Amino acid sequence: MIRTVLLTGSNGFLGSHIADALLRNDYKVRAMVRPTSDLTWLEQKPVSYVYASLNDPESLKKAVEGVDAVIHNAAVVSSDNKYHYYKHNTEGTRNLAEAVLDKAPDIERFVFVSSQAAGGPTENQDPRKEDVLPQPVTDYGHSKLLAENHLRKFKDLLPISIIRPPALYGPRDTAWLTFFKLISRGIMPLVGRRRELTLTHGQDAARQVLLQLEKKEAIGDIFHSAPFEPTTFEEFGRCIAKVLGVTPKVFVVEDILIKTVYPIIYPAFGIFKIKPPFRKDKVVDALVKRWTINGEKAHDLLGFEGRLPLMAGVGQTVEWYRWKGWLQSPRDRLKARGGSVTKSRQVENHKVQYDPSCDLCALAIDGEVKTVKHYEDDDFIIVDCLICREPMAVLKNHRAHFTDEEKDRLDQIFVNVLDKKYYTDYEQRRIPEHAHVHCRSHRHALPWQKRPE
Ligand SMILES: [Zn+2]
Ligand SMILES: [Zn+2]
Repeated sequence: MIRTVLLTGSNGFLGSHIADALLRNDYKVRAMVRPTSDLTWLEQKPVSYVYASLNDPESLKKAVEGVDAVIHNAAVVSSDNKYHYYKHNTEGTRNLAEAVLDKAPDIERFVFVSSQAAGGPTENQDPRKEDVLPQPVTDYGHSKLLAENHLRKFKDLLPISIIRPPALYGPRDTAWLTFFKLISRGIMPLVGRRRELTLTHGQDAARQVLLQLEKKEAIGDIFHSAPFEPTTFEEFGRCIAKVLGVTPKVFVVEDILIKTVYPIIYPAFGIFKIKPPFRKDKVVDALVKRWTINGEKAHDLLGFEGRLPLMAGVGQTVEWYRWKGWLQSPRDRLKARGGSVTKSRQVENHKVQYDPSCDLCALAIDGEVKTVKHYEDDDFIIVDCLICREPMAVLKNHRAHFTDEEKDRLDQIFVNVLDKKYYTDYEQRRIPEHAHVHCRSHRHALPWQKRPE
């Protein structure tokens, strides 16, 4: 049984979700960080820290001492200096593997988080499979492929397993945030037409990493992380718009413009101190028609199943961004402008209290239902929560609390309608001004706390 896992890149977007998945499953996490690392996403989590650098072999030897497994997730994904990709991603990976051979040769697993970029784009209609000859098109992709090749040399000495995630999204991700923000303002920019891509939710990718850590079938092999069908940028944007309740205008930026004009105007971003939408070296990436991969192998050999298909994952991500204050929906902006007022409104044959800036009023009174609906009467509606997917009852009145009578009635409805063991919790966390209650199959738990998977 693997106990202590060294996790590199643990403070980043995917790394912190891997840390959560490990902690939920009772692993001890040794988070490898640098003294300058931003540890926001690890705050309050019961992890231990080790300070080391991939370019300092001595520090790596200390970091790996006494661990049962390593998950190597750290990487440079964006740099103006291409040498950095090879120094950190390629040499750094080799340094880490050598440190493991030296100080922890009996390790039970070495999971390397590579990238779809190591395989390269898709040449024809079919999403790329793991055994197709790799043809990376960027320095990032080359650096990851070279790292995989280095690890291959250790394959008789170490139980190595490689995961190649595609573009990821989800809570804590900042790479897609500008796209989400523009859509919330009614603008959907698309680079070229019908660009296809595989998008995987960060929490799903983290669950696959865990399987590659545990399953012996994962040893010595490469697995794509793609539990769902490929999509297009436009479909992704439409999902975001739907959750936010906006109808965006689509602006197509033609390829030729990206190819010829972008490199010329790029220095201007620096001069005017504006964050560029992507770095100059990502132009190649942006112009690829299809970044799609096939994820059947992880399903067939490891039994991996994704939990968050696009619409569910986008819904959860949008709500998380709003909770963090990173993104505003039109209703959030109305509230900020002082539009939060409780009015009386006639609905069919009776009056209800209503607030035009309240999400739950829109759901319960306007019928803006985005997930599965289980039940509805004059007083309540029961739908799946957009964030946690558990059933949630919402009062059809903009009022802060349920009465005792309403609670009794709801408990009865839960028993009659939802055929499962449940646990209600009348404490309202997210929208305190509008009564709602989850009908949970388990108690409220933080992302890294133990709960049924
Ligand atoms: Zn309300
Ligand atoms: Zn919920």
